[in-house]
Order: sequence, then C-alpha cells, then structure tokens
Amino acid sequence: MWVMRQGIDHEEEAWKFARKVLEGTAVEKYLEYEEWSKVIEADRLAASFDRWLLLAVGGGKGFLWYEYLHNIFDPSWSHSIRPPQGVDVISKSGDAAAIVNYYLRTAEKALDGFPQDRLAVTLYNVLYLTLEPVWYSLNLPPSLADTRTPTHTVFDHNYAVASMLNVVCNGEVGGYYAIIDYPGVQKFIAGRKAGDMWVSSWILSNVVWATGYRVAESWGLDTVLTPTPRLNPYAFKGLVNTIAKSSLYAVECLSGVPEELCNLASRVYGLPIEVLWNQPLVPATMSLVLPRAYANDAVEVSGKLLEAFRMAWRELYELVKERLCDKGNYLSAFLCERLESLSEVVSEPPQGLSVAVVNLEKVYHDLEKCVVEGSSSACEELGLTVDRKALEKVVKEVASGDSTKEERAMREIATKLLYHLVVTRGTELAKKYGAAVRATPRSFWYYSGGRLESVAGVDTNHVCSICGDEPSALKLSKTFKSGGRGLGDDYSDEVWGHIEKTVGRTLTEKERAEFRKFLKPGEVLGPYCLFKRASYLALRNTVSFLSTDDIALEGISQALQGEFQVVLERLLQSLNGMNASLGKCRASDVVRYLYAGGEHEVRDIGEKALECGLTYDEFVSRLEDSVREACKIAVRSGTVKSEVLVEYAVKLLGVNNAIRELIESGGTTTAVNLCDILVPQTSYAILRSDADDVGKLMSGWSPIGLDNYVNTLSDHLRKHGEVIGSTEVLENAERSYRASLELSRAVGLGDRVAVSPAWHNAVSLSLMLTAVEDYITINRWGGMLVYSGGDDVLALLPVHSALAVARDIRKNFTGDYFRRVGNVVVTSTLVTGRSTSLRFVNLKDLMSQEMWEAYELLESFPKRVTWAWEDRQDRIDARKDSIVLSDSRSGAIAVLPNYVRDHKSVVYDSYDLVLNLLLSVASGLLSKNVPEDFEKFVSVAFDVLKSEDLETIARYVLRRNVRLRDENFREKLVDQLTRFPHGMRGYVGDSRRRADVRVFPFEIYVRTLRVVRRYL
Ligand SMILES: [Zn+2]
Repeated sequence: MWVMRQGIDHEEEAWKFARKVLEGTAVEKYLEYEEWSKVIEADRLAASFDRWLLLAVGGGKGFLWYEYLHNIFDPSWSHSIRPPQGVDVISKSGDAAAIVNYYLRTAEKALDGFPQDRLAVTLYNVLYLTLEPVWYSLNLPPSLADTRTPTHTVFDHNYAVASMLNVVCNGEVGGYYAIIDYPGVQKFIAGRKAGDMWVSSWILSNVVWATGYRVAESWGLDTVLTPTPRLNPYAFKGLVNTIAKSSLYAVECLSGVPEELCNLASRVYGLPIEVLWNQPLVPATMSLVLPRAYANDAVEVSGKLLEAFRMAWRELYELVKERLCDKGNYLSAFLCERLESLSEVVSEPPQGLSVAVVNLEKVYHDLEKCVVEGSSSACEELGLTVDRKALEKVVKEVASGDSTKEERAMREIATKLLYHLVVTRGTELAKKYGAAVRATPRSFWYYSGGRLESVAGVDTNHVCSICGDEPSALKLSKTFKSGGRGLGDDYSDEVWGHIEKTVGRTLTEKERAEFRKFLKPGEVLGPYCLFKRASYLALRNTVSFLSTDDIALEGISQALQGEFQVVLERLLQSLNGMNASLGKCRASDVVRYLYAGGEHEVRDIGEKALECGLTYDEFVSRLEDSVREACKIAVRSGTVKSEVLVEYAVKLLGVNNAIRELIESGGTTTAVNLCDILVPQTSYAILRSDADDVGKLMSGWSPIGLDNYVNTLSDHLRKHGEVIGSTEVLENAERSYRASLELSRAVGLGDRVAVSPAWHNAVSLSLMLTAVEDYITINRWGGMLVYSGGDDVLALLPVHSALAVARDIRKNFTGDYFRRVGNVVVTSTLVTGRSTSLRFVNLKDLMSQEMWEAYELLESFPKRVTWAWEDRQDRIDARKDSIVLSDSRSGAIAVLPNYVRDHKSVVYDSYDLVLNLLLSVASGLLSKNVPEDFEKFVSVAFDVLKSEDLETIARYVLRRNVRLRDENFREKLVDQLTRFPHGMRGYVGDSRRRADVRVFPFEIYVRTLRVVRRYL
C-alpha cells in the first residue's frame, strides 16, 4: 500500500522484491512461471467478503489511502499501522528481501544432496515461514491487503492465495478439503499425575501435527489451513527437522540446520524456540486443502492421511524406545524392556483419526447449479436456503443491467460460498461430497482357532488404574503392612524381584525411591498409559516436566528463588535456630528441597515423608507448623521485615492495585499473619477456560451485528481515509459493502459474513498467537499448560496465583484487541468473553475426577449466567464471560463476572476486588469468618431482603470483622471492599424469570472467600 501511495507501479515493485528474494537460489527459475493467470484466479478466491463484488462493481479510478487495521470480529476497534517515524518502508523492504534471500541460500547449502523436487518444496517452505517474521523483526507493520477492507493484512491475503492455488486447476475448481481429528481428547489426556497429562497432550499435539506436516513436507506448507503454519513454533520444528533429515519430534534446534532459522523464530517470540515447540500448543484437529494431484478421489485422500497418522505414531514410538533403551540407567532399562515386549500393541496408535474429506469440484459443481442456474434441488443438497428474488435483485443492481457483469457476479458468489461452506460445514458435506471415516479404537483381542486371544504383553484380568480402560501391562502390587494392617507404601517383594531381575542387579535405597516416584506402588498400567509414562521418562531431560507436587509448591518456590530469596534464607536460618526436625530429617533440609529445588529433580512430598520416616499426614502437618513458627520468629525478631512480607504477598497473589497503605498500617501483626502463605502447599488449582460463542465467531458472526459491522467500516473509511484520485473508489467500496450484506442474507447466511480464506487465515493466526500468549502467561505464574488451542485452555496452577492467571488469560482476548509480534500489531484478538472454571483440589484427590468436575461447573455456571441491573432497562445484559470458583474439599462454589462493562469501557474488574479481599484476609485485617457471619444475618430472610438491605448488612458485617483499631483505616477498608457494582444481579438459567440460581454481589465475594480461604 505504501508503494501505491507513492504512485509507484506496484506490480513492478513486487517483481523487484521477488527477484531479490529468490536471486541465486535453486528456485529462482520459478520467476519464469508461465501460469500467472492461476495466481490471479487464486487471488480472487482468497479475497474477503467485502470484496465479493468489487470486481463486478468495479473498483473505480483512484486509490483510498488508509492506515488502520480493524479488529476482524468487531471493527469498531482499530489500531494504527503507520510505520515508525523516519522509516521508509520501501527501502526497508529491500532489507527484508535480502534477509530472506540469505535464509534461502543457507538452507540450500544445508540441503545439499536433496532431490530437485524436494529441494524446491523445502525452499518454498523456508520462504513461507521466514518472510512474515523477517518483516516484523525489522519493526515494519503489515500492509493492508486492500485499504478498502482494513480487517486483514497483506500477509493474511497472500498466505490465503497460496492455499487457494491448490484449488485452482486449469481454470476450474478442484482438489480436496480435509479435516483430521483425534476424537476423545479428554479421555486420552486424563491422568493421575500432572506429568501423565502433560505428556499425553504433548503426544497428541505432536502426532496430529506430524500427520499434517508429512503432507506439507511434500506439497508445501500452504496445504495446512488450521492450525496455521504462520508464526507457528511447530512449523519451525518441522522445517528444522526436514533440513536436518531427522525425526519429526527432535526436541532441540539441531546441528546442521542454519542457526539463523532457530534464532529468527526465537526473536519473534522473545523465547527460545525449543521452549515453545515443546509445549502442547497444537490442537488435535487440523484442516488441510489438497491439490487434485494429491489423490484420485476422496477415499484415497482419507486413506493416505490415515496412513500418515500411523507413520507419525510409529515414528514417535521409535524415538521414545530409542531414547529409553540408549540411556541404560536402571529405570529406563526396565521401561525399555516393558516397551519392547509391548511393541506389537503400542507401535500402533490407540485409535485411528476421524477424517472428513470434501471433493471441492463436486461441491462447486452443485454451487454453480444452485447459485448461477437457480436449481433449488442443488441448493437443498448443499443445505443452502437461497432467496432467489433477493439474490437476483442485488446482482442486477450491482451489474447495472450489464448481463456479462451479472453472470460474472453470480460466479463470484458461487466461488465465495465454496470456502464458507467447507470450513463451516465440512464434516457434513464430506458425507455427500467426499469421504468420511470415523475413528475406531484398537482392539486388545484377536480371533484365533475358534477363540478370542488377548494381544501379546497384556493381562486382561486387570484394568489400567490410570484410564480405567485398557487391560493391564504392568501391575505394581503394594506390599502388606506387618500384622495385617492393610497395604503399605512400597512395592511387594515380588514386584521388586521382578524389577531387579529385569535390570539385572539389586537396587540401592535411593534408586528404589526414584523408582517409586515414577511408578507409584499400587498402580496398574495399561500399554498406552505405560507408553505415556515411558515417553515422559525418555524426554525428561529435554522437556521441562513438572509433577503435581511441583505445581503445588511452585508459586511460593518461584517467588522465594527470585525476588524474595532473602525471605527463604532467613526462614532456613530460623528453622535451624529452632533446631526443628521432621522425623529423621532436619526441617531446613526439607524446606530447602521443597522450595529451592534442584536441577531437573521432580519433587515428591510423599516420597520425602517416607524418607523422613513419617506418614504423609504427619509429615505435612509438622512441616506446616515448623514453617509457620520459624517465619513468626523471623518476623518478630525483625530479620524478615514486615514490608518485605507484604510485598511478597502482593506479588504472590498477583494483586494489581493493592491496598498497600492499609495492609502496612497493621505493622508486625499483619506480617505475622502473612506467614501462613509461606507454608508449603498440598493443593493446586485446575483451570479450564473456553471462549464464549467461539463456534459462531468462527463461522463469520460478529458480536456487533452485520449492519453495524458494515456501517462501522464505512464510517471509518470515510472519516480517516484519504481519497487519491476519484471519489468513485470510496463510493464503490461502500456500494459493494452494502451489496455484500444483502447478499449474505439472500444466500441464507443470516447475520454472518461469508468466511473467506483470507478471513480464515487471519483468525487462525490469532488463535496460534493466543495459544503462545496463554503459555507465556501460565508459565510466568509457575503453572503448567496442559493444552491451549487459542480458544480453550487447560492448566494446572499453584493456588495463590490461580486467580491472577484467570484474569490474565481473559486479558489475552480483549486486552487491547490486537495480537502483536514484538511491537508490531499483526492480527486481531477474539472479541468475545472467556469463561473459566477454577477448581481448587488437593494432591490426594483423584485428578481425573476433579478435571471432570471443573468441566461440569464451567458448563453449568459461567456458560449459563446473565448479569443484569435489576431496575435499569437501558443496560444491555452481559452473558457468560464469567468465572466459577470451586473447592473440592469444602464443596463451596462462587460465580463472578470477569468484568462489568458500561458499553465499551470496563467499569468494574472483579479480580481487583476479590484479590484485595483475599489480601485483607491473608494479612489478618479481615476475619476469615466473614462468610459465616454474613450468613447468620441473611439466612432466614434472604429471599425477602431488598438489595439495599443486603448492602447495608454487607457493610455492617465487614465492619464487625475488620481488625484494625484505627477508625479511619477501618472505614477505608470497608469502602474498598464494597466497591462492587450496586444493584447488579446474576441469573443462572434460561432467563431472568426462570433462573435456577440468583446471585447478589456481596454474596459472591463471601462465597469466593469460602472457596479460597484455606490457602490464606
Ligand atoms: Zn491406561
């Protein structure tokens, strides 16, 4: 666009750029490509809905200068894309071309010996993956694809064009659209240990991605639509491994690969790329667009994809086995042997994929019949409800009576609908216009000689204790306690005998302890759960695994190892001074182990208790007492300063606008209370978060409505755009907007825009970058990301930072409405709420059960809640976008809105208030008994009380429970804690009238306190 602004011939400039990029490489010859007409056709296919009719309408002479990128879901949010002052984009683009050229040349050197065709595709993939990040790394903003449609960038458009080239064949539409999906993700990743879950998710991310990448390796990355390969750490991993001719799962940036490639990716994210490509960031679903040449028919496509999946699984199996069997230590030697004996089972995936393949040519054929020829039966086949009259009317208007233009417009509409239909209804269409395969789980039985036999290595008399589904492949029976007092905490002698026989020697006590950490006494592992555990062990040194115990301890541990190290040192001194012991262990050694950690050591509280000769419960309770006592001594003697401890609490809880002045006014008394949040935790939190209305957003819906969408864009263009040449350009753009809107309705899309490839590309990029951002957020607070697909998140968190994570995860959606790379705004965020379930659970609770509870609560409360002002008709009700907090032990539940908005601005932030409430309780300024006290006053008459009464009671109860002597401070604190939105109510249920549950603001905070107070 900058080229056009300066009146330079943009096609000529593009050629110059392309020549500079490809100069001196093996792919330079493709500049002579003779079929540019195909590219032009693909360009048209890729364009977004608002450009539907520009071609038919005619762009008009002139050019519209416009420098803002608008959020694609809600265009009332926009951001300037003006280049930094003094930067000449055109000359800088020369630098970008030279850098990409350098990448291509270095990659080509590394690819020495590759056959010509593979070399060409690989270099193409290098170009695909480097062009965009190189541009951003020079601090250059993206150009708009077309200034008349400022919702997506030229990168969105160009990558979409590349994908659409697979569909254009000799002037016709052809090729396939395919969706691969691993069904039952929840079941696959359910586990009893954090590591099991993480590694299961990692396996799915990697195997599903590898399946698609196998296609991209031969046919180009543009065949992958979602998750987008753009700025995708997994795509970098794939490319690096292709160049290094290595396994697809290699975990570090390998030697033999141009270092610059790995560095570029790291520069984009500000993190080592290996850290990101080893996170489970890819969902277990992919969509692809394949050229006609890929296969003869849809059935063959599905067969090839299923085979690619099997190969991807097998490759992972080989990698895990090789790593384990090479290590040669006692633990890996044992698992290596088990894995080899199970190879018949686990070298194959536990189930197939679901595959849906749509033959695009066939769909397009019916679309032409439906739209161009007006065949109602064809429309019906496609599931389209076309209002023929309305359609003809719009087309007539657009074409101004010119019949050639009319015909062209009709075809244009048919092409645009093709993409929309397949991405929004691909699975259904596959049944009629292609092939659909459902995944079937593998069987552990086979039929032989008239009877059923179980496969080698499994014992069908016992069931896996992790998933409850597979037959046993390893049974680790517990020993009996002496005197028939039930089961002990160790393996039985028989199990030890078996282990030592396999390893070939006797194990030391320390080795036995390590064994028990990885394979818990009493566990029964099925073949796949054993494979997951083995993968965990095989990848352990390269990928950062955490145990559930680690997560429980990590919040405090991270703070004490960082900024507040002095607190840890003084605490240890104090413990030593007290001469505190825990059974056979010195308390200070235990605390050092739990908080200071060790390199790659997995913390295990139970194993530590065993080592110290105490039962788990005894150990935990004595540990808590010692730490609390030592901390109090340190505070009272002044070795740990009150302010430091207050600061620690503020950071640990993540309170943004802390009421510090009030807390500090409590002096040493306050600080002594804060000792409670230094105590080692045996609980953690499960976070499940899900974008509200995400399905609707993905199918072209805008939260502001289509009329508003179009008007907003028109208004902005008129106001901030600058017409160069004839004003016809602006008038025609507005005409085509309006026509597109009417068209959307005429072809039965209702209030949705037709999803175009460019639109889809922008949205996929947004999801990819959000997934990365979610990982960064969770990691920053000491949590473990189990998976993120950009819209949904599952994570395990330390209890104290759990609310701060929920808040920040929410902000990743509409913090500023755009995603950035460095300082450069590159795409939109999802403009929707993000409902969250936060469940506090104990290390001893059954994790898979609690996961399920967290999910159920998410569906029952945040997804069904409406927030409204009882007496104000002018306010729009807020739906969803809430958080439910729950506690596994007390059963307490609380629902809160994430935010309350007055039209566009946030008037109230729940997290701010709740975190200050928690801080007040933690510091002892407010009694923990507020919930019970409040209940006493309202329980009898809750239903008849008016909201004003409730608020009066709330203030009264708070005042009674504030422990500050100073009258002035006390009133201040009460004011701070009652800043909730007055007169607001929450309704959980179908509507206000038929609500199952009615919630009042103060009650919510009281309930929140009930959920969280035992961690304070
Ligand atoms: Zn299992």
